[in-house]
Amino acid sequence: MEDRFTDPQLHSEERETEQSLRPQRLDDFIGQGELRQKLKVYIQAASQRQEPIDHTLFYGPPGLGKTTLAFIMAREMGVNIKISSGPVLTKPGDLAAILTNLEAHDILFVDEIHRLSRSVEEILYSAMEDFELDIIIGKGPGARNIRIPLQPFTLVGATTRAGLLTSPLRDRFGVMERLEFYGIEEITTIIKRSAEILNVRIQEGPAREIARRSRFTPRVANRLLKRVRDFAEVRNNGVIDGELLEDSFRMLHIDGHGLEKMDREILTALIDRFEGGPVGLDTLAVMVGEEKDTIEDLYEPFLLRSGFVQRTPRGRCATPLAYEVLGREMKKGLFSGYDET
Ligand code: ADP
Repeated sequence: MEDRFTDPQLHSEERETEQSLRPQRLDDFIGQGELRQKLKVYIQAASQRQEPIDHTLFYGPPGLGKTTLAFIMAREMGVNIKISSGPVLTKPGDLAAILTNLEAHDILFVDEIHRLSRSVEEILYSAMEDFELDIIIGKGPGARNIRIPLQPFTLVGATTRAGLLTSPLRDRFGVMERLEFYGIEEITTIIKRSAEILNVRIQEGPAREIARRSRFTPRVANRLLKRVRDFAEVRNNGVIDGELLEDSFRMLHIDGHGLEKMDREILTALIDRFEGGPVGLDTLAVMVGEEKDTIEDLYEPFLLRSGFVQRTPRGRCATPLAYEVLGREMKKGLFSGYDET
């Protein structure tokens, strides 16, 4: 995938600033109001009972705050947090080593938990349920089953694809919460907060302009703010104003609707090649030369949420709004969307 400014996934060089921009306490976490209230109760109840919080699964598109919430839970509980991820934990022994080193009530955060291998996942079952490691040592007739007690801990899993979790794993989470896209107001507030931490002066208007192009995603908002800050420092004495924003977005190839190059290619394919659809995801992926999963995870949620695309039982359709922004004429009676799956 080419380098994208609006990619909601974490780029490796961002790790450090990402950390500094993370809200540390639940009260500093902006948006996701209902989820925040529920977490507050779970955290308080667990503290009062002197127990670990129930195993928790956060799911939803990348960049919405799943990792941040896991860190906040640890801080609010006053416990340690260990971080790992599905693709990194390749051997059961890797996971066993982490689990046996946890202290009472610690949090183990496993990102992309849907990508755990079967053999590693199986270790988790008894660990989550009984706080015990159930492992087989040796092979063949000499193999033995041994049980190792663990400290009571909380597993916090994160995934963009809750549907890919096996049911034995899913059933072991006491809490399953979906993170939603953020509203423009919330993203504007996040941008103003980040600007303060990064020592950038930004007015309400420009903050809102950046928010409108942030794909309703805090990580994208923070990244755009940093890029715009670069342009402001080099070209405009550090001042972020309307003209500078326009120039910056033009160079970043992001239009006034927050659409970037691949979004426009998807919409163009739908409209120019398939008369607006419906088109199956596989066909669409081939037409724009992108992975099917990438379209489904990264591009489509934004296009759906913004009302450019509709999902119907027969495939994806371009909406009248998509025709409008691409400047195409819509033939009468062609759009048959709105029969949501
Ligand atoms: P995920 O784990 O869902 O991919 P992260 O928790 O890593 O997302 O969040 C990505 C970035 O967005 C972090 O740097 C964090 O600072 C910021 N962020 C996410 N949610 C919020 C929020 N509600 N308020 C402020 N910043 C947020």
